[in-house]
Amino acid sequence: MSSIADNIRSVTRRIQKATEQAGRKPDSVRLLAVSKTRPPEDLRAAADAGQTAFGENYLQEALDKIEALKDLADLEWHFIGPIQSNKTRQIAESFSWVHSVDRLKIARRLSEQRPAELGPLNLCLQVNVNDEESKSGCSLTELPELAASVSVLPNLTLRGLMAIPDPNQNDADLKQSFGKLAGALALLQQTLPDAQQLDTLSMGMSSDLEMAIAEGATWVRVGSALFGERPAK
Ligand SMILES: *Cc1c(COP(=O)(O)O)cnc(C)c1O
Repeated sequence: MSSIADNIRSVTRRIQKATEQAGRKPDSVRLLAVSKTRPPEDLRAAADAGQTAFGENYLQEALDKIEALKDLADLEWHFIGPIQSNKTRQIAESFSWVHSVDRLKIARRLSEQRPAELGPLNLCLQVNVNDEESKSGCSLTELPELAASVSVLPNLTLRGLMAIPDPNQNDADLKQSFGKLAGALALLQQTLPDAQQLDTLSMGMSSDLEMAIAEGATWVRVGSALFGERPAK
């Protein structure tokens, strides 16, 4: 069994290779370690190997880990799971980034509840690029209006877009889904003020990060390739 440190090295190499093949700058893609269901010791092992950014899906589990690892000064916490409105305060108080906002009500609450001393919360809008019935995310049609409304809220910085494309697609369709998200960001960069802050595409996971990087990903969210397969829920 390979160690978490070995896995970080091999995923980092995959990212470097894909970034180079896409003709992109070496530091233009960052690794978000998705640590849902993992115990704090696994995150500590990753942090010891140099990993700083961690993505969590479940609030209470995340808060327990943030507390357990508070002796590590440089960790950056990203919330990437579905958000209920009664959870926004703790998210606004404990995270640097939120990738999974798909409605204005949630963005408003995060803005109102963000403690001023922490500075703006970095926010991505989640887009349902394949129009899947059961999926979170706003539609590509709703996106321009939602992005315009969110971009003017105080205490938030709209950084870009996130998607979890339908994993049951063939490679060509998956590539096209990543391309759609990139196209949607490009359109927002042309239409919204503060375009220089809109620099983020959160897309690509353990099995498809190369394709996402080819299409412009700036954060790849990687869980099982770092920490091993998760037990079925
Ligand atoms: C679990 C999860 C990931 C990581 O998936 P892997 O296939 O384990 O790399 C990425 N993004 C989100 C939103 C997730 O919930």
